[in-house]
Amino acid sequence: MPIDFQKIQFLKSAAMLTQLPQDTGSEVAFVGRSNAGKSSALNAIAGIKKLAKVSNTPGRTQLINIFQADAQHRLVDLPGYGFAAVPQEIKLRWQQTLAAYLEERASLRGLILLMDSRHPMKDLDENFVVWSARRQLPLYILLTKADKLSHSAGLEVLRKVASMLETLHPEATCQLFSATHKIGIREARDQVERWLK
Ligand code: GDP
Repeated sequence: MPIDFQKIQFLKSAAMLTQLPQDTGSEVAFVGRSNAGKSSALNAIAGIKKLAKVSNTPGRTQLINIFQADAQHRLVDLPGYGFAAVPQEIKLRWQQTLAAYLEERASLRGLILLMDSRHPMKDLDENFVVWSARRQLPLYILLTKADKLSHSAGLEVLRKVASMLETLHPEATCQLFSATHKIGIREARDQVERWLK
């Protein structure tokens, strides 16, 4: 049975891992620095406008937002990280929560890591790559806002990130993506669907 992306709905927000839905079925998590374009990507991939809130105030959302296609297939919007104005203590708490989620969640099938294609592989991004490699968690990187780059600059970023992945997480893959210019949406959706099924 294909996943019906049109049926994806907001299920709940969780401030703590204990508030997540039952750890059964399968889910794909989306993670990235604040402002990387995660909400826009979620909306584009699900094909639904305003599913996830596109925010102009990065760093505000500290909740894990859960969307579901049906009881056994979920998309998980993890809190954005790396926003400068967030106090260090809160940053550390987020990092611990995210790390615990990645370590413990049995229904997690894969991680979609979003990076602005103009500023890829910042320190915290690299942490996620390393964590997911250590946990042998499938990883797919979306290099977002690719419409902001020329064709050749886009290919150069793709090459650079792919070459870093060869050492950090050899099974991981990456692609260029633009929610606004509809670049790579089909490929990203296919990946999510393969993991969920
Ligand atoms: P989030 O904080 O990671 O959820 O990022 P948002 O989806 O809220 O987007 C952050 C900002 O980047 C917003 O101003 C969006 O309009 C913009 N943005 C998101 N996706 C794209 C894209 O594909 N192309 C361009 N040019 N801007 C984008």
